[in-house]
Amino acid sequence: MIPKQPTPDLLGRPLADLRISVTDRCNFRCPYCMPRSQFGAGHAFLPRAELLTYEEIDRLAGIFAELGVRKFRLTGGEPLLRRDLPVLVALLAGHRDTDLALTTNGALLAGMAAPLAAAGLRRVTVSLDALDEAIFRRMSDAEVPVAAVLDGIDAARAAGLAPVKINAVVRRGWNESEILPLAARFRGSGSDLRFIEFMDVGTTNGWRRDEVVPAREILERIDARWPIEPVEPGYRGEVATRWRYRDGAGEIGVIGSVTAPFCGDCTRARLSAEGRLFTCLFAAVGSDLRGPLRAGESDAELAGRVARIWGARSDRYSEIRSGVRGTSRIEMSYIGG
Ligand code: SAM
Ligand code: SF4
Ligand code: SF4
Repeated sequence: MIPKQPTPDLLGRPLADLRISVTDRCNFRCPYCMPRSQFGAGHAFLPRAELLTYEEIDRLAGIFAELGVRKFRLTGGEPLLRRDLPVLVALLAGHRDTDLALTTNGALLAGMAAPLAAAGLRRVTVSLDALDEAIFRRMSDAEVPVAAVLDGIDAARAAGLAPVKINAVVRRGWNESEILPLAARFRGSGSDLRFIEFMDVGTTNGWRRDEVVPAREILERIDARWPIEPVEPGYRGEVATRWRYRDGAGEIGVIGSVTAPFCGDCTRARLSAEGRLFTCLFAAVGSDLRGPLRAGESDAELAGRVARIWGARSDRYSEIRSGVRGTSRIEMSYIGG
């Protein structure tokens, strides 16, 4: 195995974090991600045999760690739908010097937080786009009450998965009226809330620029109610710009991927549930790692393969998006954000 070392891409960005999608299925149908018209009863999800097994994910994770990855994040689809997820968490928690986090819609978190924490999960991010029941239902297109997600957040805190981060996608005409209620709910709670601009991921969500509420506008609305000031970024590759309430009630963040792209600091690789490696959220194709892995390639060969893929990377879609719209792209529910 080659030694632990930073692996820079063509723009000098090291490979530092890996998002691992464990399923392309979800119990929500958020229209900005999995619109029911496209992901209805007739949609063909990945068959089980196509998914990487937990042992395969763990082996690849070890290879990425050798190449410099310091943070794993489990995602989906909805990761809590994958059976026996704590088994995978326990395997991944065994990699030294790496952080292990999970992003979930929270619907099943109340019952899963304790076993996940016991298995070695460190942190969790919960997506919650509204507190108002009707708006939440429209944003999630699911029959899950807001209270179930809030219970999940409480259970995560009680299990020691703190600080719990909350992600809220903001879509003009859908939930921008929830910006202040969400801020009010999580101010001073110990949970940092991060607002995300509605992104043009995939090709099915009917993205329109006029439905993007710019990060600046979100911040101005909050600042007008509770004055805020900027916080220095915590580490290279941090996607959210961080702000703190001047009255000491904690932090909020905004992820301005449309109006303030951050490709220059993008140190993130993405592994799909079937073992394809994507070097950008907006990529059209990924590189198959499952085939070579199942064909018997050694760890050193697989590491060389990943290093070559990352070394050839020059993606910066968000910075040049106007020039490349309209091409085919993977879906968010496939790659997990
Ligand atoms: N199902 C889990 C969840 O919702 O947290 C994990 C996967 S989901 C694809 C990861 C994140 O991507 C969520 O926070 C979700 O809100 C965000 N997301 C999905 N589609 C998006 C879009 N079009 N624009 C911005 N964020 C999006
Ligand atoms: Fe499911 Fe998450 Fe996509 Fe919503 S954002 S449809 S919860 S994968
Ligand atoms: Fe990274 Fe691609 Fe997003 Fe730019 S557009 S920040 S390169 S994932």
